[in-house]
Amino acid sequence: MPKPRIGIYGLTSCAGDQLTILNCEDEILEIASRVDIKSFCLAQTGNEETKLDIALVEGTVSTQKDLERLREIRGRASILVAMGTCACWGGMYTMRNDISRTELLKGVYGENGDKYFDSLPAQPLKNFVKVDLPITGCPIEKKWFLRIFKAFLHGDIIEVPNFSLCSECKLKENECLLVNRGIFCLGPITLAGCKARCPSHNIPCIGCHGPVDEANYAAEVNILLDKEYTLEEIKRKMGFFVFNPDIKQRQ
Ligand code: SF4
Ligand code: SF4
Repeated sequence: MPKPRIGIYGLTSCAGDQLTILNCEDEILEIASRVDIKSFCLAQTGNEETKLDIALVEGTVSTQKDLERLREIRGRASILVAMGTCACWGGMYTMRNDISRTELLKGVYGENGDKYFDSLPAQPLKNFVKVDLPITGCPIEKKWFLRIFKAFLHGDIIEVPNFSLCSECKLKENECLLVNRGIFCLGPITLAGCKARCPSHNIPCIGCHGPVDEANYAAEVNILLDKEYTLEEIKRKMGFFVFNPDIKQRQ
């Protein structure tokens, strides 16, 4: 049976998800022996633009070039995986989508900045093409990447966490930073998968995994207001990753 043809790509991003794959040091040779890696610019030369069984794409669509590249990859891939929080949700690149690109380009590159650079408001892949599977995380969790990759190769059902980070935090019997100590923690509205890495080290969750399905933003905001955070601060911190609920002042 031919090996599945794989392509690994990055749009506007830090390349952290591709590096996570390269950091699978104990497994990378086994992975490479099971698939036919047609394209992985970060890791190899001689890449081919060809039909793919699976394309893994990290990063946001932040330029016209990103958009064209994404559509081109989607056109030749049977399965497209959005890899990382930016690809799945837009990530921190979306923080300044409230300001026009022209204004931002001029602010960063000077008066003619908007003439020299191609820039779009940052958006996740799903806003433009069909995404078959999201693997969230900033960067992706190595454990989940390997588990999902194995499931693909074996044709197994793929299961990913769909519950909030607080569940993992409780299983580790951590003291709650938010409720007990009044520290700004986004665990209740964040997708699990990291085993509550930050709260387990006494550091509040900033939501790098993106939102859990049906996140209860109102309850999170009410707890934070009770802890005497201002609405402005709540909006700013929730906007750091991808939490942009229409927060209204409590009556
Ligand atoms: S510390 Fe954060 S993640 Fe842990 S239970 Fe409290 S709110 Fe949830
Ligand atoms: S605890 Fe929160 S911020 Fe820390 S790695 Fe997990 S999801 Fe990301």
